[in-house]
Amino acid sequence: MAPRKTVGILGGGQLGRMLTHPAALLNIPLLILDKGEYTPAKQTLLAPASLAHPDGPFTSESHIRELAAACDVLTVEIEHVNADVLEAVEKEGLCEVQPSPATIRLIQDKYLQKKYLAERGIPVAPFAVVEESTEANVKEVAAELGLPVMLKARTLAYDGRGNSPLKSTDSAAIANSLEFLGDRPLYAEGWVPFVKEVAVMVVRNKEGEVRSYDAVETIHRDSILRVCLAPLRSGTAPGAEVDTGVNDKARQLAEKAVATLDGAGIFGVEMFLLEDGSLLLNEIAPRPHNSGHHTIEACHVSQFENHLRAILSLPLGDTSLRVPSAAMVNVLGVSSSMEPIDDIATKALSVPGASVHLYGKAESRAARKMGHITVTGGSDADVRAKVRTLLGHQPDLDA
Ligand code: ATP
Ligand code: MG
Ligand code: MG
Repeated sequence: MAPRKTVGILGGGQLGRMLTHPAALLNIPLLILDKGEYTPAKQTLLAPASLAHPDGPFTSESHIRELAAACDVLTVEIEHVNADVLEAVEKEGLCEVQPSPATIRLIQDKYLQKKYLAERGIPVAPFAVVEESTEANVKEVAAELGLPVMLKARTLAYDGRGNSPLKSTDSAAIANSLEFLGDRPLYAEGWVPFVKEVAVMVVRNKEGEVRSYDAVETIHRDSILRVCLAPLRSGTAPGAEVDTGVNDKARQLAEKAVATLDGAGIFGVEMFLLEDGSLLLNEIAPRPHNSGHHTIEACHVSQFENHLRAILSLPLGDTSLRVPSAAMVNVLGVSSSMEPIDDIATKALSVPGASVHLYGKAESRAARKMGHITVTGGSDADVRAKVRTLLGHQPDLDA
C-alpha cells in the first residue's frame, strides 16, 4: 500500500483509542491532541517517527495549529472542539478537516442542530429555545411543550450531563434543574413517549458514497447509554423476528439526516421509535459513537476503521453484521473505586463470545465510561442470557 497520509485526532479518549487499532493494522500514522501524556488513545499508539502527540486542550488554537502543521487530515473524536480554528486551518490550506468544521459547529449547539434538521424535513420532538435561564422562561416553555419537559444544555452536553427532566414547574424543581445545567445556554424538548431508542451509524466518504450499519436498540438509564442490542428486533422476547421494516426506515432516516451535513466520516444518528412505528431523530454525532462499538466484533468492518477509510478516500468497508446477534454493555464507574470495573471485566473473561474493552482511564467516577463488553452469539437468546450473566439482576436493563 502507498504511504498513508498522517491523521490528526482532536481528542484522546476511548473513541480515539479505538481509532488507533485499525490505524495500526492499516499503517495509518496518527497524532492525537489531548491534555496529558497518557490519555486512553495515546497509550495505545506511538506517535509517528520524530513526532510526538501534542499535549494540550483540543480547544487551544496553538495546539490545533501545531497538529495541523504535522498532519494531512484532521478529524475529531469529540464535537466539543474549537470549530473556529478548524475552519481557519482549512481556509488557510494548512490541513484538510473531516467532517467539515461547519458540521462540527452546528452539532455543538444541540438547539441549532435540531432547528436545522427540522427545517430540512427531518422529524424531531417539539422543541423551544430558553432565551435566558430564568424561572419565568422555563415556565413559558413548559407551558408550550407540556409536562414533563426535558431541559437541555445547548452546548457541552454528553452522556446526559446536559439533560434535566422537569416533572413540575415548582420554583424548587426549576431551581434544581437550572443549577444542574449551570451557566450553559438552554433549550427544551417535549417529552417523547418512545417504545425504544434506536441508533444507526452512517459512513460517508468524500466522493459522497454512503453506507449505513444495521439499526440497533439502545437502552439508556438516566440519559446515559447502558446496553446496545444488534440488530434491532421488533420484540424483546428471545427469538423475536428481526424488524426489517423499522430497520430499513431507521437506516433511511439516518442516511437522509446525514445527507444534510457536509463532510466525510462516520456519524452516529440517535432516534426515538414511537408506538405507531414512526421515528423521531434525537441527535447526530459527527464521529464514532457508543452505539457503534459492537461493530468491532459484530460487523465485517468496524465504525472506527470505516471512519479512517472515509476520511482518507480508501474504499469503504462492508457494514453488514457477521454474527446473528450481538450486545454491547457499557462498563460505567460506580465511584472512585476501580474494583467494580475489574470485577465485571474479569467475569466477562469467562463468558464465551464476550470481548472486554477497558479504556485505560486512570480514575473512576460515578457514571464515567470506563470500558465496554461486547457479546456476540448465534441467537438473541444466547446473547441476552450472557448479558444477564454479566449484569446480574437488573430488571430495568432486562435485555
Ligand atoms: P450523548 O451522550 O448521546 O451525546 P446527550 O448528553 O447529548 O447524549 P441526549 O442524547 O439529548 O443527551 O439525551 C440522552 C438520553 O436522554 C436519550 O438517549 C433519551 O434516553 C433521553 N432523552 C433525551 N431527550 C428526550 C426527550 N425529549 N424525551 C424523552 N427522553 C429523552
Ligand atoms: Mg449528545
Ligand atoms: Mg445522545
